[in-house]
Amino acid sequence: MSTKVLSDKKLDITEVFQSIQGEGHYSGIPCSFIRLTGCNLLCKWCDTTYAYKNGESLEINDIINEINIFNNELVEITGGEPLLQDNVYDLIDYLHQNNNRVLLETNGSLFIDRVPEYVHIIMDIKTPSSGGYTEGYLKNLPIIKKTDEIKIVISNYNDFKWALNMCLDNNLFDYFEKPILVQPAFGILNEQDLAAWILDSKVFFKLGIQLHKYIFGEHVRGV
Ligand code: SF4
Repeated sequence: MSTKVLSDKKLDITEVFQSIQGEGHYSGIPCSFIRLTGCNLLCKWCDTTYAYKNGESLEINDIINEINIFNNELVEITGGEPLLQDNVYDLIDYLHQNNNRVLLETNGSLFIDRVPEYVHIIMDIKTPSSGGYTEGYLKNLPIIKKTDEIKIVISNYNDFKWALNMCLDNNLFDYFEKPILVQPAFGILNEQDLAAWILDSKVFFKLGIQLHKYIFGEHVRGV
């Protein structure tokens, strides 16, 4: 992979690292991660509170150079909430020019209309009890691609029922090519309970676990 065009535009970055992708459709695959600083929500079980502030201002060309050292085709832009920084669209463009397969994890509160078609979006919809609930995802449902992914973190049975009804009401099980990912809030809900609810529901849910936490540990950063 080579950088064809360099950009001195800057982004506030919390960390750039490589790991095994721990979540979603690409789970288990080597992936480089670019974690942007700042978030507009305050989820109760947020496991990346360190990304709220104190990022380092980096030029996009320096970020791309770090990505090229890892040399993974798959690159995920995450946060925090990456769409809060306008220069993220330049980063996306340069990663695409760099021949990376680009994943974007967003909390769904901001409009995704400027995200290019070639980006694989993982929209992490927050439940009402999460502390980060917003109706922003509703304006994104009409434009998100059917090849993208929805993820919902579940902390209790009320969350699960809300997720089930929300997906049924918005026809999401039929729309998306991939199953809707429901993931237990780590350390709050056990996988067995969520598995039982999924089995009862008879819909196209997929139980997600945060694979990286099982491999590297719960509190390890940069993995
Ligand atoms: S949206 Fe993500 S980064 Fe922001 S508070 Fe919620 S879990 Fe944390």
